[in-house]
Amino acid sequence: MSQDELYHDTLLDHFRRPRNKRALPPDAVRVEMDNPLCGDRLALGFELEGDGLRRVAFDGSCCAICTASASMMTGAVEGLSAHEATALGRRFIDALQGDRPLDASFGECAAFEGVRAFPLRVKCASLPWRALERALREGR
Ligand code: ZN
Repeated sequence: MSQDELYHDTLLDHFRRPRNKRALPPDAVRVEMDNPLCGDRLALGFELEGDGLRRVAFDGSCCAICTASASMMTGAVEGLSAHEATALGRRFIDALQGDRPLDASFGECAAFEGVRAFPLRVKCASLPWRALERALREGR
């Protein structure tokens, strides 16, 4: 598989114009994680209104794949319940690491289909989702 297939257009668009990348409010539920294999350093934050995730945002210094993943992830989970967001993240990481393709049920995040062939880049793409999972589990 070529680099062209790795860097899907949707992915490049989210890398060049990341959504929801901003300084995190001090009272946000937040978590910081890094991926030493690549050098990605990610901070993820959100507020909980009832059980709903609101104002999901990220900050930090990440490669193209990780930045695009954080950009799409923050959009995908905005407004979901903690349970729904955790389930979506689990399903996304399982698909990234597994044998099943990233189908249309993943919306924009299906753009990571080409990444599945590159195990080191799978770690970059999954980092924002692993950060979300940790924040929902520990970050209250
Ligand atoms: Zn990376």
